[in-house]
Amino acid sequence: MTLRRDFHQHPELGCEEHRTAGIVARRLTELGLTPRTGVGGTGVTAVIEGQAGPGPTLLLRADMDALAVTEEADVPFASVYPGKMHACGHDGHTAILLGVAECLCAHTARLRGRVKLAFQPNEEGVQGALAMIADGLLDDPPVDMALGLHLWAGTPVGEIALAAGPIMACADRLEIVVRGRGGHASAPWETIDPVVAAAHIITALQTVVSRNVRADRKAVVTITQVAAGDTHNVIAERATLIGTIRSFEPETTRQVRDRVRAVATGVAAALGAEAEVTITEGPPPVVNDADLTSRVRAACLTVAGADQVIAFEPVTGGEDFACIAQQVPSCFFFVGARNEGEACDQPHHHPRFKIDEGSLTVGLRAMLASVDHLLGA
Ligand SMILES: [Zn+2]
Ligand SMILES: [Zn+2]
Repeated sequence: MTLRRDFHQHPELGCEEHRTAGIVARRLTELGLTPRTGVGGTGVTAVIEGQAGPGPTLLLRADMDALAVTEEADVPFASVYPGKMHACGHDGHTAILLGVAECLCAHTARLRGRVKLAFQPNEEGVQGALAMIADGLLDDPPVDMALGLHLWAGTPVGEIALAAGPIMACADRLEIVVRGRGGHASAPWETIDPVVAAAHIITALQTVVSRNVRADRKAVVTITQVAAGDTHNVIAERATLIGTIRSFEPETTRQVRDRVRAVATGVAAALGAEAEVTITEGPPPVVNDADLTSRVRAACLTVAGADQVIAFEPVTGGEDFACIAQQVPSCFFFVGARNEGEACDQPHHHPRFKIDEGSLTVGLRAMLASVDHLLGA
């Protein structure tokens, strides 16, 4: 709790988690471990060897980064840095994993195999997991399976939500540049108006999900930013649309990307303009391994009541734990942090985002029970 509040008060953006990583490494050293720092930038790893004989290597991952948000939450340990805030709960993830490390270090006699701890930078920039993997996260010792958790504003505190299969979306960034021919606003027949073409493209893109994607599949196409022109009497040369595509199955992902490209370029061409579509592929969807998820669920049932271990409804948010889950059987689960009575009811990334700190204990116990279930002697 003290550590979580300290991290909360001193948030660091992706790739800048020097203070946080320093505290993590120092704490792990105090526990008798030999942390490796600078993994994938500011990441930290450490291995806890079990003393109860051979067994698999289980990776436990926590993310450490904050967001470029100015905190408005009414807490005594609010961020001291304007423009930076732990508005997603990653401060809690880091504190929970340090707590898990402390408990595991005290009980290595009960542990088969080993636990590898990963404190990851830059989740929000969706580059941190890949950077750590490129830096050997899943090798030496090779990782056999992985667990991660997210404190979750959508679920009441005390509850744990999990599900097998795709649970978080593939999150692409979309940019469309519409090029026309500028000119005098009073003589549009002498121009190719990119604003009108952009407006038609935005409208036509609404058909991709409603007319192309099967009803039993999920996808989202959202335009979030529209930019063109400088004044009232000039038709602009170009318009820029920015947005995001979310999807779960590779086939749907391909289909939506293809349709967005075809619709944007086709509509622009019909109006005499040109559209250049750039889709920056985001992290893949988080796909939970069915067998591992059922074992984690069984473990959670030892620390929470049957009515408190609930099914997780897939969400269209992205999460770069997906890059780990793509390589080894994994389970990413959600620990309820919502408490309306305590004003812990704002969505993630909101300036008044607040967790019920009771969730920290639930997360710690769920993670420890899972390790015990998977590696306990
Ligand atoms: Zn977030
Ligand atoms: Zn997050």
